[in-house]
Amino acid sequence: MSSPVKPLATRERLSEVRYEIRGELARRARELEAQGHKLIKLNIGNPGNFGFRAPAHLQHAIADDMGRTDPYTHQQGLPVAREAIAAAYARRGAPDAVADRVFLGNGVSELIDLSLRALLNPGDEVLIPSPDYPLWSAATILNDGRPVYYRCRPENGFLPDPVEMEALVSSRTRAIVLINPNNPAGASYPRELLEKIVAIARKHNLLLLVDEIYDQILYDGAQFQPVAPLAGDHPCLTFSGLSKVHRACGWRVGWMLLSGAGEQLGEFRAALDLLSALRLCANVPGQYAIEAAVNGPDTITELCSPGGRLYETRRAVIEACAASKHLSLVAPAGALYAFPAVIGPAAQGFDDHDFALQLMEEEGVLVVPGSSFNVPYRNHFRVTLLPEASVMREVFGRIDKLLSRRAEA
Ligand code: PLP
Repeated sequence: MSSPVKPLATRERLSEVRYEIRGELARRARELEAQGHKLIKLNIGNPGNFGFRAPAHLQHAIADDMGRTDPYTHQQGLPVAREAIAAAYARRGAPDAVADRVFLGNGVSELIDLSLRALLNPGDEVLIPSPDYPLWSAATILNDGRPVYYRCRPENGFLPDPVEMEALVSSRTRAIVLINPNNPAGASYPRELLEKIVAIARKHNLLLLVDEIYDQILYDGAQFQPVAPLAGDHPCLTFSGLSKVHRACGWRVGWMLLSGAGEQLGEFRAALDLLSALRLCANVPGQYAIEAAVNGPDTITELCSPGGRLYETRRAVIEACAASKHLSLVAPAGALYAFPAVIGPAAQGFDDHDFALQLMEEEGVLVVPGSSFNVPYRNHFRVTLLPEASVMREVFGRIDKLLSRRAEA
């Protein structure tokens, strides 16, 4: 007689990991679509799903000679791409920005995991913003670390309070994560605030992990301040890539620059090199687009300026929230999302998951519940700003209808 079939066990800490942007609700959405329902899906910041294409000069850079993309590259990536990235950071004032300190990856996603794997020992703590982009929490947990959240409160424009942040530092803290401009709330961090955070990192010897993937997606004159120049000789990893600013997320191209005084980087530099080597190299065709992207014409500012697609969609969302008695919004200064709060009678007994499910089932709109971004409240939701403004007006009309029904119930 054969023994009973045992289900495969999985890594225990996976039970602590959540990534609801593509989770249960997204699965339910696919079921509804398979049954013939038409949904407006606003859960993922995926430019290609909303009619955006990577700029033509990037497409040509890959397509011109696919033959040369056959071999593996150096584990850190093609020198020509790394040199272009290093030069771009040097122009921004990042110290020691040389090709040898740039690592290419299959999207920023891979590099987030790789850098935390290089850094953390069991029980080490990482200061992560709340709300966060949840991969930062997930990768910390999966690399045996512990996320410790610093609050970025709506009443403070979703900016952190450095005093509160420093109070969270313990003997186990190893790093501070910054996401600027921020996903999901769109906050853009002013220079003085970043200087205070850098000072905390220096004082407590913490690595700065700075996710700047939305660095050029800014609205209404918001200024972007890169952290590496402020960090100077203090260890700092800056992350960015082609997914958002260059609308090429399917190409899976990301990079990170390690700045700071060489002697302080110690074994960490070698660990990044080893972990990069273990995965051989990043997707090579995508690497060929990097030089064209970094040195080519600016194709994003126009989209973020009055009359531009992203600007007008953001304006439609701001106006819809201002006109609704059920919603309040901190206008996003950057990035590709809005993170409205439900307020007033509709917020009584509100649960963001129930709301998101009901919104999808009854109104055909998929949003991400705010608590997916590791916040301790449940009255927010996130939408991407990628659709046309007219779609957003329709969406917020439906949201308002549902919230009015709920307020009257
Ligand atoms: N970091 C942030 C803040 C993001 O919002 C995203 C994707 O939405 C990523 C990283 C992942 O980007 P990539 O496509 O380069 O893996």
